Amino acid sequence: MTVYLVGAGPGDPGLLTRRGATLLARADVVLHDRLVSPAVLDLVHPDATLIDVGKDPDEDGGARQEEIARLLVEHGRSSAVVVRLKGGDPFLFGRGGEERDALTQAGIPCEVVPGVTSAFGVPAAAGIPVTQRGLASSVTVVTGRVGEPGVGGGPDWEALARAGGTLVVLMGMTTRGAIADALVAGGRAPDTPVAVIERGTTPSERMVRTTLAGLAAVELEAPAVIVVGAVAALGADAPSGGPAGPLAGRTVVVTRAGPRARGLVDVLERAGAAVVELPLTRQVDASDGGAALRAAAAGVGDRRWVVLTSVNAVDRFMAAVRDARALAPVLVAAVGPATADALRMAGVEPDLVPAEHSARGLVEEFPAADGADRGVLFPCAPGAPGTVAEGLGQKGWEVQRVEAYRTVPLATPEPALLARVAAADALTLTATSSLRAFLALRTPDGAPLRVPPHVVCIGPTTAEAARSAGLAGVHEAWGASGDGIVAELVDHFGPGGGGGS
Ligand code: SAH
Repeated sequence: MTVYLVGAGPGDPGLLTRRGATLLARADVVLHDRLVSPAVLDLVHPDATLIDVGKDPDEDGGARQEEIARLLVEHGRSSAVVVRLKGGDPFLFGRGGEERDALTQAGIPCEVVPGVTSAFGVPAAAGIPVTQRGLASSVTVVTGRVGEPGVGGGPDWEALARAGGTLVVLMGMTTRGAIADALVAGGRAPDTPVAVIERGTTPSERMVRTTLAGLAAVELEAPAVIVVGAVAALGADAPSGGPAGPLAGRTVVVTRAGPRARGLVDVLERAGAAVVELPLTRQVDASDGGAALRAAAAGVGDRRWVVLTSVNAVDRFMAAVRDARALAPVLVAAVGPATADALRMAGVEPDLVPAEHSARGLVEEFPAADGADRGVLFPCAPGAPGTVAEGLGQKGWEVQRVEAYRTVPLATPEPALLARVAAADALTLTATSSLRAFLALRTPDGAPLRVPPHVVCIGPTTAEAARSAGLAGVHEAWGASGDGIVAELVDHFGPGGGGGS
C-alpha cells in the first residue's frame, strides 16, 4: 500500500542508495524507466513483477505519463510494496513530482528515495568536478530543449550564457548543435571546454572532450550528459578506468543466483576478477505446505524468542504470522544485516543482531536462559546446520526448529557453464546448501565436477562443512560480505599474495 519513488542512480548499481537496494529486494511490483540499467534491475527480487513503463525521457509523452500514473495508482492499491524506479534522482527531470501528486490525490502513501543524479554523478565519476575554486562558482542543470524559453519550453540559452559558471545539459544530444550556437550567440567563447559523457558509470561509458565549436560534430549518442565550462577540461590526465584490479586474470565462481548474488559479483568485478555465476539452489514451500510454520506462528506469543537467520526465513515466517503485533511479547534475533533489514521492512525491530554474522556469533551473544520461560522458535530450512539449536540448548534454551521453506537444487547447468566452473581459479560458497548442491553436480559423463583449487566460504560453519566434505584449499572469508570474500581472495592471489603466479 505504499509506492516508493526510488532514484536508481546513473547506472552503476554501487551508486544506488542502501534504502533503494533494500526496497528493490522487498518490492512486490517494480515499474521502471527504460533508462534504468540492467545491473540495477538485477537487484529486484526474482518473485517481483517487473514492469517496463518504457518512458524514454528524450521523447515527449503526455499520454504515456497519464498511463504511468494510472498504473502506479492501480498497483499502489493492490500490492504492499510498489517501487517506481527512475534513472538518477526521481525529482530531477524525471516527472517524479507529477507521479507523487497523482498518488497523493488517489490517497496512496508515497515515499521519495533520492538518487545520485546523472547531472552530477556522471561528470564526477568521469573525473570532472562541476564546480572548482577559481574556475566555476556555480553550476546550472538544464534540459537540452531549444525553442521558445519559458515554462514548458526550453531554457533561455542566452541568459545562461551570460550567467557563466558550469552548465550541465541533460537530454541535449539531438539539439547539441543548436545549443552550442545559442550559447556562443549569448557570449560564451567558441573555445569554451565541453565534455560529453555517454552512459556514464556503466561498462559502456564513452567520453569525448571538445569545445563549444566542436560540440555539433561529437559522435556519441543519448543518454549523455554535456558539461560546458572551464571545468570540462579538468581531470583529463587522471587515469580513466583505473589500474587493473588485484584479481585481474582470475576467474571466480559465485554460487548464489539472483539479486543477492549481485553485490558479490559487483565487488569481485571491481577487483578485476572474471565472474562465473552458477545458480545452484532455489527456495520453495515447506514440505507440509507451511502448516507447521502457521501453527508455530499462531502460538508464537508463548515463546520467549524467535531466531531468524535468513531473509527467506523472515519472509516465510512473517507471512505466517500475518499481524506483526503478535510478536509484541516475543524477543526477536536476526543473523546478518540483510535478515535484520527484512524484519524492519516487515515492521519488526530486531532485539538482537549479533556483531558476528553467523550462527556462532548468535550463540555467543545470546543470553543464558533464566526462569521457566525457555522457548525459542527457529524457523529455518530442514538442512540448516545444528549450530543454533545446540548452542542455545547449551545455554538452557529449548529450541524448536520448524520448517519454514526448503532449499532445492536447480536443474543441472549447461555443460559449457560447468566447463567454465571447472576451469576457474576460485569458488565462493555462502551456505552449506550451496555446498551440497555444488557437490551434487555431475559432468555430462557422470563424473563429479572438478572443484576450483581455492575455496572461500562465508562463515565457519560452511568452511567446516566444506573441509569435512574433502574439499582442498578451503578458506574463510574475512567478513560476512562480498568485501570479506574479496579481501581473502586478494590476500591469496593478489600482488604479493601467497598464491599469485
Ligand atoms: N532523473 C534523471 C534524469 C532524467 S532525464 C537523473 O537525475 O539523472 C534523462 C537524461 O539524463 C538523459 O537524456 C541523459 O542526459 C541523462 N542521463 C541519465 N543517465 C545517464 C548516464 N548514465 N550517462 C549519461 N547521461 C545520463
